[in-house]
Amino acid sequence: MSAIDTLPPLREVIATHQLSARKSLGQNFLLDLNLTAKIARQAGVLSDCDVLEIGPGPGGLTRGLLAEGARRVLAVEKDTRCVPALQEIAAAYPGRLEVLNGDALEVDPLAHLTPPIRVAANLPYNIGTELLVRWLTPKDWPPFWQSLTLMFQREVADRIVAQPGSKAYGRLAILAQWRAEARIVMSLPPGAFTPPPKVSSAVVHLTALPEPRYPADPQVLSRVVAAAFNQRRKMLRAALKGVSPDIEDRLLAAGIKPTERAEQVSLEAFCNLARQIEAG
Ligand code: SAM
Repeated sequence: MSAIDTLPPLREVIATHQLSARKSLGQNFLLDLNLTAKIARQAGVLSDCDVLEIGPGPGGLTRGLLAEGARRVLAVEKDTRCVPALQEIAAAYPGRLEVLNGDALEVDPLAHLTPPIRVAANLPYNIGTELLVRWLTPKDWPPFWQSLTLMFQREVADRIVAQPGSKAYGRLAILAQWRAEARIVMSLPPGAFTPPPKVSSAVVHLTALPEPRYPADPQVLSRVVAAAFNQRRKMLRAALKGVSPDIEDRLLAAGIKPTERAEQVSLEAFCNLARQIEAG
């Protein structure tokens, strides 16, 4: 196996900087640089992009992104212990890596980035879904990002790409697929990480569509979908009672049987319903 750069192996970096993994920060590190370069390649052509990386840790994926030619990487890391290790990477790639020591849920990375922007991350599991939902629901569309290449627990990845009729189908699938193209591009067993998590993981690649797949007001769609899946075992006419006084008529006008359950309704039909409710 050839080295992707001239920096020390990640096990050595972890030992030098005493980066024992902390569960509270969702730290499951990727130490195989060939694997992190492979994940970076899934993010697409990086040479003309700035890349936002959340949670670089000791920098395995960061090194992958830089070795794969990212124009610039902004790495947002909460754990101050990781900063010196990341600064060593910055020194090896002059002018191409900026490290922001802070909480990804609080900092505004946009001031530090120049479009086009891609996002790539082996996300801390405790904030992964929250960040994804934020990135999928900005005030304006298209969003600041061209693509998101993100590691999730397999179960969350399945929910992002789920199709109607499956147990995994729900709000996350609708949010992700309405305005983006979402695919699982890699599967990783627990043993790929140090320490190994309890469950398998998968990398999801999402590309922002220039426009939503079907027209709908984002807030109305979000309200309808939340109500429908909050009571997913109920028939839609009951689950959506509070959304519109004449919900049965609206469902029929949208081409949905009022006795159907949310799980069976396509994204297109949910968008039709949101338009019917908005028109009312
Ligand atoms: N990217 C590294 C890798 O692949 O080996 C580390 C991935 S580890 C699953 C998640 C990383 O996110 C950790 O380095 C952790 O310290 C960091 N992290 C956890 N919560 C964070 C937050 N709120 N903001 C920024 N980074 C966070």
